[in-house]
Amino acid sequence: MNIALIAHDAKKELMVQFCIAYCGVLSRYNLCATGTTGKLVSEATGLQIQRFLSGSQGGDQQLASSISCNEIDLLIFFRDPLTMKSHEPNDANILRLCDVHNIPVATNIATAEALIHALEHGDLDWREYVR
Ligand code: PGA
Repeated sequence: MNIALIAHDAKKELMVQFCIAYCGVLSRYNLCATGTTGKLVSEATGLQIQRFLSGSQGGDQQLASSISCNEIDLLIFFRDPLTMKSHEPNDANILRLCDVHNIPVATNIATAEALIHALEHGDLDWREYVR
């Protein structure tokens, strides 16, 4: 099971706190993240994370490519809904690809917690079999 993490700048601290809180669950899975998000989370938690480039440098497109290749089983994407990003179209594309490939995606902490609890209970194990 491969879990991808992305957080916009205004949400990076939230992502770090989320990953500290759920470190035990997350450590059971393969993790990947855009560059800065991955760096901050791995420094704070010690979790092993495959890091793509920084989002603004193309890391979001690397992640989109992984989603397209069916290599991602769950995405946690803490977006800043209040600030326009220069690479906003890439964000929309990532979410579109999750819908194309039926990948569970959380864009806020409430949904992320629901998905983490589903993971803990094995409710998302079916993803392993459809890949
Ligand atoms: P970052 O990328 O983790 O490298 O900051 C996230 C983003 O696309 O904003």
